[in-house]
Amino acid sequence: MNAQNNNRMEKIISLCRRRGFIFQSSEIYGGLNACYDYGPLGSELKRNIKDFWWRWMVRRRSDIVGLDAAILMAPRVWEASGHVAGFTDPLVDCKVCKHRFRADMITEPGKCPDCGGALTDVRQFNLMFKTFMGPVEDSASVVYLRPETAQGIYVNYQNVLDSTRLKIPFGIGQIGKAFRNEITTENFIFRTREFEQMEMQYFVKPGSDMQWFDYWKNDRQDYYQALGIRPAKLRFHEHDKKELAHYAAAAFDIEYEFPFGWKELEGIHNRTDFDLKRHQEYSGRDLSYFDEESRERYVPYIVEASAGVDRTLLCILADAYEEQQLEKDTRTVLHFHPTIAPYKVGIFPLVKKDGMPEKARMIEASLRSHFNVFYDESGAVGRRYRRQDEIGTPYCITVDTETLQNDTVTVRDRDSMAQERIKIDALLNYLYDKINI
Ligand code: ATP
Repeated sequence: MNAQNNNRMEKIISLCRRRGFIFQSSEIYGGLNACYDYGPLGSELKRNIKDFWWRWMVRRRSDIVGLDAAILMAPRVWEASGHVAGFTDPLVDCKVCKHRFRADMITEPGKCPDCGGALTDVRQFNLMFKTFMGPVEDSASVVYLRPETAQGIYVNYQNVLDSTRLKIPFGIGQIGKAFRNEITTENFIFRTREFEQMEMQYFVKPGSDMQWFDYWKNDRQDYYQALGIRPAKLRFHEHDKKELAHYAAAAFDIEYEFPFGWKELEGIHNRTDFDLKRHQEYSGRDLSYFDEESRERYVPYIVEASAGVDRTLLCILADAYEEQQLEKDTRTVLHFHPTIAPYKVGIFPLVKKDGMPEKARMIEASLRSHFNVFYDESGAVGRRYRRQDEIGTPYCITVDTETLQNDTVTVRDRDSMAQERIKIDALLNYLYDKINI
C-alpha cells in the first residue's frame, strides 16, 4: 500500500472510531486482535446493507426464499462438505522473529517478509473453530462454528422444497455469522476471524448451470451499482484452473479497488452437484429432484453468490469517503447511497429561540416513524451540516425565520450542498422520492 492510500485507510479507521461506526472489540481490556464491534452508526449501516441485500436477493423475487440456520451443525456436515479434511491454509513460521504467515502469501520462498529470517516447512492448518457441545470435552462432543453459511442451506434444501411450492430453478438466501481461524488477519475489517456472510444458493437443472451462472454474474454486478459503488472501482476476476476449487465448474470473484489494492468482495461459483451429492452420500437421504416438466429425476446443480457483510461495509466506506478542499477549510464527506445511510435526515432549528426548536421538533416527530432522523440544535448551523456530512446523512432540514412565516424549510443536499425551499407538508413525499427506500 503506498503512503497516500495508507493515509486514506488510517483516516477512514479514525473516522470510524471517532464517530461511532466501528470500535476495537474489548477495547478497555487492550482489545482482541482483529475483532471489531459496530457502534451506533456502524450497526445502522450494517443493518441497512443487510436489508438492501435481502430486498434485492429475496423479497423482490418469487423464486427465492430466506433461511436462518443455526451456527452449530452436526459435525458430519463438515465431513461431507470437505471442510474437516480440506479447509486448510498452508502455514509457515519464521524461525527468528517467530511471526506466522500464510505460505501462499509469501513473495520470496523460504524467507520471512518481516525480518528476512528462515521459515519452517509448510504445515496445513485447519481454519475451523472447534468447541464442545455439552459438559464433556471429548472427541464425541466436538462441534464446529460454521466457516460458511452455505451448508445450512444445502442441508435444508429438501425441507424448503417440501414446505413451499417452489420448483427448480429456485434459490435460498441467508445472512449470518461465519468463523474462520485465519492465520493472518488484515486491513481492518477486511479479513477477520468472525464475520458475516450474505449467501444465495440457486438450485438449477444440470445443463442450465452455465446459463444461470452468467445470469447471476450480471445480476450481482447490477446490485453493486444499485448500492452506489462506483463502477470503475469494480471488476470481475475469473478463476483459472489452478485457482478453481475442486468442486467448482466455474468461478468469478467480484473485486473492488480498496486503498490496499484490488480484493475480493464476493464469489460467484458454479458448484455443480458436488454439495448435494456429498450430503446424499453422508446422510443416506435421497436428495434428488423429480422434474415434472421434463419427467426426469436428477440431483440439482448449484450456483452460489457469496458476499461478506463486513467487506461490503468497508468497500462502501472506502468508496464513499472524500475530503473536499473548500475555500476556507476541508470538508469530509461520506457519499453513502441514501438507502444505506445510517441517518437519512438531519433536522436543525437555525437558532435556539423564536419557536424554531419547537417547529423543528414537530418535523422530527412527523418524520421519525418513516426514516432514521437526527435532531441537532447545538453550535453554528455550518458546523452541524459538517457533522452530518462526515457521517453521510444525505439531507438536512433547517427551520429558519421564513419557516415561521410561510411553513417552508430548507432542504440541503449533502453532495451538491444546494438548498431548496420545501413546504413542510410536502416534505415526506419529497424525501421518499429522494431516499427511495
Ligand atoms: P479469501 O480468498 O479472501 O480468503 P474466500 O475466497 O475464502 O476469501 P469465500 O469462501 O468465497 O471467500 O467467502 C465468501 C465471502 O465471504 C468472501 O467474498 C468475503 O466477502 C467473505 N469472507 C470470507 N472470509 C472472510 C474473512 N476472513 N473476513 C471477512 N470476510 C470474509
